[in-house]
Amino acid sequence: MPGFELFGDAEKKEVQDVLNSGVLMRYGFDGMRQGHWKAKELEAEIESQFEVQHAQLLSSGTAAVSLALASAGIGAGDEVIMPCFTFVASFEAIIMLGATPVVVDIDDTLTLDIEAVKAAITPKTKAIMPVHMCGSMANLEALKSICNTHNLILIEDACQAIGGTYKGQALGTIGDLGCFSFDFVKTVTCGEGGVMITNNNDYYTNADHYSDHGHDHHGSDRGAETHPFIGYNFRISELNAAVGLAQFRRLDDFIAIQKKHYTIIRNELEKLAGVTFRSVPEGGEESYAFLNFFLEDLETARKVSSAFKSNGIDVCFHYYDNNWHYIRKWEHLINQKSLVPLSKELIDGLSYLKHKTFEKSDHFIGRNISCLIKLSWTESEVIQRAKKMASIIQSSTS
Ligand SMILES: *Cc1c(COP(=O)(O)O)cnc(C)c1O
Repeated sequence: MPGFELFGDAEKKEVQDVLNSGVLMRYGFDGMRQGHWKAKELEAEIESQFEVQHAQLLSSGTAAVSLALASAGIGAGDEVIMPCFTFVASFEAIIMLGATPVVVDIDDTLTLDIEAVKAAITPKTKAIMPVHMCGSMANLEALKSICNTHNLILIEDACQAIGGTYKGQALGTIGDLGCFSFDFVKTVTCGEGGVMITNNNDYYTNADHYSDHGHDHHGSDRGAETHPFIGYNFRISELNAAVGLAQFRRLDDFIAIQKKHYTIIRNELEKLAGVTFRSVPEGGEESYAFLNFFLEDLETARKVSSAFKSNGIDVCFHYYDNNWHYIRKWEHLINQKSLVPLSKELIDGLSYLKHKTFEKSDHFIGRNISCLIKLSWTESEVIQRAKKMASIIQSSTS
C-alpha cells in the first residue's frame, strides 16, 4: 500500500516547480506562480480518473470526512451510522461537528453489517458512512437502497481502498459523497492530505467555501471575497499537492503491483485448510492494498500473529488486539475522554457505547489477520514470503 515506497524523481520534479515559484498556497498569487496550480491540477486528475464531477483537495482524510458531513448539512443532534472496525478518524470526524456516531457491527466483508445498519436507524439518523476497510468495500447496493427508503445521505470513507471498484465504478463515487486520505501510509500520499469527491453541485460549493474559512472564491481579490457562512481551514499546501500529483498519476501502476503481490500470497494461502478469506460484495473488485483472511478461532489467530512477528513476517495485523482500528480498544472514545467539554447532546448521544457489545464483530475481527501489501517487494521476496506464511500457519494450526 504505501505510495511512499516508490517516492522518486516524478515527485521531486513536481515539488521543485513549487519551490521555484515560492508560491506554497493553493489560492491566489496568480502573477507569481508561473502557471503552477498543483492542487487544482490534482483535483482535475482525480475528477477525470474517477469520472466524478467535483474533487476538493484537503489537508487530511479526517478533514475530508468532516467536510463531507458538513457539506451535506450534518451537525449537532444528527446521528451518523458507522462501523466498529475502522480508523478512529471516522469517529473523530463525526463528533467534531457535534453529530453523534452510532457505531454498529461489521460482517465477513469486514465492513458494515446490513442488518445492524437497519436496526440502528432512528428519526435522528441523517447519514450512513460505510468504511471500505483494508482495500475492500461494503455492500453499497444494499446501503443505497436503505438510504433511498429512509432519505439518508450515503458517505463513503474510502481512505483505505483507493483504486477499488464496485460494479465498474470507482469506490468513493457511488455514495453522495466520498473521501480519500493521502496521509503518509496510504496508497497515494501527499505527505499529509485528503480529498472529498461528489457529483452534487451544492455539496461541492459548500465544501469549497467551508474548507477555506467560508470564502466564496469569487473574483481574484481574496480580501474582497464575501463569506456566505462560517468555515474553517482545511486547505492543503501546494507542496503536499505536488507530491500527490506525481503519486496519483501512478495509481494504476500501484494497483497493478498490489494485485500481483496479493495474488501470489493468496494463491499460496488458499491451499491451506482452516484459512478462509473476507467476502467481497458481488460486483466489487478490491484495491488489493491488503490481504485479509480468517483463521478458525481467536486463539489460532493470536498464535499465528505472534509467530508471524517472531519469524520476520512484518506488516500483518491482528486488529482484535490493536489499539487503532477496532472498538474493543477505543477506551478514550467509549469513556468520552475529551480535552474540551462536549455538548450535553453528544454526551447523551454517546452514552450507549458504555454498554453496547459487538459479538458479531468480535467473531470476525478476532479471527482475522490483515496483511499489508507492499509496493517495493520484489517478486521473489513475495514468493518467499507467501511460502513462509503458509508454513507458519500450517505449523500453528496442526
Ligand atoms: C487514514 C484514514 C483516515 C484519515 O485520514 P488522515 O489523512 O490520516 O487524516 C480516515 N479513515 C480511514 C478508514 C483511514 O484509514
